[in-house]
Parts: sequence; structure tokens; C-alpha cells
Amino acid sequence: MNNGKICISIASDSADELLSQFGQAEPVADVVELRLDGMITDEIKKVFANVKPTKPVLFTYRPSSQGGKAADDPNERAGFWMTLFTECEVERELMWFDNEMDFGTALKWPDGYISIRSFHDFGGIPAGLNTIYDGLASFNQIIKIAAMADDVSAAIPLWNLIERARSESKSIIPIAMGESGKWTRILGLAHGAFMTYAPLDAGAETAPGQISAADMIDVFRVKELDRETEVFGVVAGDASYSVSPWMQNAAFKAAGMNRVFVPLQVDDLDEFISRMVKPQTHEVELNFRGFSITNPHKQAIMRHLDEIDETAAKIGAVNTVKIEGEKLCGYNTDAPGFIAPLKEHFGDLKNASVSVVGAGGAARACIYALKQEGANVTLFARDVSKATVLAEEFGVKLKESQILNLRSEISECDILVNATPLGTKGEKQDKSIATAEQLKDVKLVYDLIYNPTDTLLIREAKAAGVRAIGGLEMLIAQGAEQFEIWAGESAPVEAMSTAVRKKLNL
Ligand code: NAP
Repeated sequence: MNNGKICISIASDSADELLSQFGQAEPVADVVELRLDGMITDEIKKVFANVKPTKPVLFTYRPSSQGGKAADDPNERAGFWMTLFTECEVERELMWFDNEMDFGTALKWPDGYISIRSFHDFGGIPAGLNTIYDGLASFNQIIKIAAMADDVSAAIPLWNLIERARSESKSIIPIAMGESGKWTRILGLAHGAFMTYAPLDAGAETAPGQISAADMIDVFRVKELDRETEVFGVVAGDASYSVSPWMQNAAFKAAGMNRVFVPLQVDDLDEFISRMVKPQTHEVELNFRGFSITNPHKQAIMRHLDEIDETAAKIGAVNTVKIEGEKLCGYNTDAPGFIAPLKEHFGDLKNASVSVVGAGGAARACIYALKQEGANVTLFARDVSKATVLAEEFGVKLKESQILNLRSEISECDILVNATPLGTKGEKQDKSIATAEQLKDVKLVYDLIYNPTDTLLIREAKAAGVRAIGGLEMLIAQGAEQFEIWAGESAPVEAMSTAVRKKLNL
């Protein structure tokens, strides 16, 4: 448990809409921020006349130079604040302000209010953060610095201002914006940040990288975290698609553990490991205990590990890291996660003929697991030169297949596995590696894609009367194995499955 606050930030150009959102936000938030810079004066006055808070309400009138919609001229902005002081009847202790660094002398602020001095940079983490901090600190108000992080470790200098503020007994709100900065929003309160911001709902963000209030409270449990909290995360080139934070946080919660799982959007893996993870070199003390590793880092992570278990070494990819003392240990749970549902649905795989389409990281784990079970595997790939390495490594047959011009041999098998992204939500959703006509002699189709669950391939299989499994079971099975590696106890699979299904609206 920590003392930080969750501020739900709401913005609208309509007073009625804003007041309605206020009514929904106030019961959930510690503080509600009203962003009034998108509103005309008459609407603003309507808000002032009708807002009746029972908790602190933070008024913000952000100029365009700081990412808002108000004019930059401080004198014009002073007009807004004068109207607030004269027309708004909110009690003094519930009326908070956010005013920007450049707004120094345009108005004499009345005493006795809680106010924030803020600085925003949407272009990146600025050089000279300590000078910016000095400028903000000179007002003797709460210091807020929000800047865009283009990589996970770019946020480090901003994060480290928490320590400076603590040593100077100042309150600070450091926020790294964007997907790569989400960890600062989630972990900030545990480390002493004064407040973290969240929108009422996903889609209503007032700054990049915000996480909905419901997820901050129920999924990441940000107010329950402290410096002892053990931190895990998904290391991904694009973390925004990962459902692992929902799955693993549900597991930690069900198991009653002081652990949290955060999205870590990593571009430069070497920097991340050396500056944020390796006990000997890290510049931040976040208490990382493990990671789920996904594209494109599953192979690159291996050079940073002190130990790699036998399965992961044979597969040549690591999707799970456990930090034990000073050691980073690598595992692969994709293979067991893939094979468990298959054996459940198909039974013994010895001598079963299996076509695997796609020759990426997932195919690698599937082929390894299938060979272990004694299956006869044929690999289909569009780039034969690239796939040759994989085929030779595992001793499987290789056939060239341009997916949009499928060869009939692809379905001359007992089991057809799709290990390509064809069928995934988005622009590839209407693609399938095979048609119902081609599938009629196949015994089982296994599509690794889990979003959507009902891919075109699965629908084609059903149309052909063929059993089909989607990727959801694998996702949960590999996640459960990860939990077991980190926790040393069996995973609360039911809670994990429920959380994933809820996240995917299933
Ligand atoms: P990856 O490393 O990027 O490999 C994708 C493979 O698909 C590559 O061989 C690629 O060929 C091939 N491919 C892509 N587009 C193609 C097309 N239009 N026609 C033919 N081949 C195409 O990805 P991955 O990690 O192996 O993942 C593959 C899929 O499995 C993804 O959809 C992923 O979400 C899913 N997956 C699911 C789980 C789960 O738990 N359910 C776990 C892991 C992966 P090139 O090399 O020529 O580009």
C-alpha cells in the first residue's frame, strides 16, 4: 500500500458532458482533473457554477505549447483563472490547480491552495531535466514533469527525479508518456510519486500512454504496490498488443502475491538490460524479478542470460526470464504451452504427420515440441532460404509455400498448424492458410492466433467438419508455465483464463 493518488483526467468541449463524466469519475478517483482548455467561456462558467465536488478537483487550462488547446498568451490564460476565483464556489481545500512553468508572474495566486507547476514535452525526454526541475521547484508547488519516452530506458532520468524530490522533501509527479513510458505510470506511486493520471475509460486518454482508471486500480493495483513489490513484465517491440499484463496480474492477485506485471516496450534491448535490469549496472532500482519475452527479442535476449535451460537452448529462443539473485535465467514455455492442448485434443502424437506453416519464433518452438513427441513434421515457408536453417536444425522436411498460392500438399497431413500471422485481427484478419475444400482430409487444425479466437482458418475447418483449436489455450498454457517458473507453485489457471477472456471481450 502507498500514499499516492489516482487522478482521473477528463476533458470535453461540453459542460454537460464533462459534469456527467465527473459524476462517474469522482467515486473512483482520489482527485478528478477537469481539463477546461477545450471549452468556450460560457461552457466553462457552466462547469464552475455546477461542479459540486466532495473530493479534490484539479482545474487545468493547458496552453497549446504544452499540449493543450488554450492560447499560449499567459495574460489570456490569467483571465481563465480570474473567472475561476470569482465564479467558482468550490471550497478552497477541494480546489486544486495545475499551472504551467511559463505562467510565472501573470497572476498573483491566492495562498492556501494546493497547486501543481507543470512542464510537458511531447517531443521526447528533454536534456537538462534538473534545470527544469529547479525552475518548477522555485514556485514551491507540486512538481509535475511529463515527457514522451521513445524507449523504455529513455524514461530513466525522469524517473530518478523521484529520488531527488524525496531527498529535498518535495512532491513530484514524473510521467514518461507513450507506450514505452507506461511503467512510470504504474510503478510511480509505489516509489513515492505524488499522483498518477488515468482516463475514465480506454479511448478517453488525455495524454499518450495513459491506462484506464479501472485497469490501474483492478489490474495493476497501483495503490497497493510498494517498494517491496516484485516487478515482472512483458518485454516486447510493441507491448500494446500483449494481453500478458491482464493474465499475469490476475494470477498474482489470485495468489495473493505482492507482485505486478507491467508492459515494457523495448526498442534497444541491450540498453534496457544494462541500464534497468542487470544488478551490476542498473541505474534504477525497480525490483525486477522476471520477464515474458516476445517479438522481436526472443533470440537477442539469450546473449544477456547467465543460464539457459535445456529446452530453451535446443529451441534457440527464450520467452521467459527469471531473475534469481544476480543471475538472469532463461526458459521457453512456448513449446510445452503449444503441445499440452494438442495432446489433449489429439492424443498420442507419435508418427502423426504434421504440417507447420510459417518459420518464425513460434514455429521453432512448435517443431521442437512435435519432434519430442515423435511426430513427422513438414515445414512450409515462403522464404525457403531462411527456413532451411530451421529445417536442418530440427531435421524436418521443408517445402516452399507462397500462402496466397497454396500448394495442395499443405493439407496432406493429420494436423495442420498455422504459425504465421495470417488471420490476426486487423488487415490480415480475412486471410487463411487453407480453404475448407483443402482441409477435408485433415484430422485437426491448430491455429496459434488467439485474437480473434474464431479465425478464418478455424471457420474453414469447421465448415469442412474438421476439429480445430485456436491459440487461446496455448496462450494460457504458456502463461501458466511462466507463472510456475517465477512462483514455484501451480498457476491459478482459472483466474488467468477469465482475465484473458475478459480482456479479449470473449
Ligand atoms: P514471426 O517470428 O514473425 O514469424 C512469422 C512467420 O510467418 C514467418 O516465417 C513469416 O515469414 C511467416 N509469414 C508472415 N506473413 C506471411 C504471409 N503473408 N505468407 C506466408 N508466410 C508469412 O512470428 P511468431 O512469433 O512465429 O508468431 C507467429 C504467429 O503465432 C503470430 O500470429 C503469433 O501471434 C502467434 N503466436 C501465438 C502464441 C500463443 O500463445 N497462442 C504464441 C506465439 C505466437 P517470413 O519470415 O518470410 O516473414
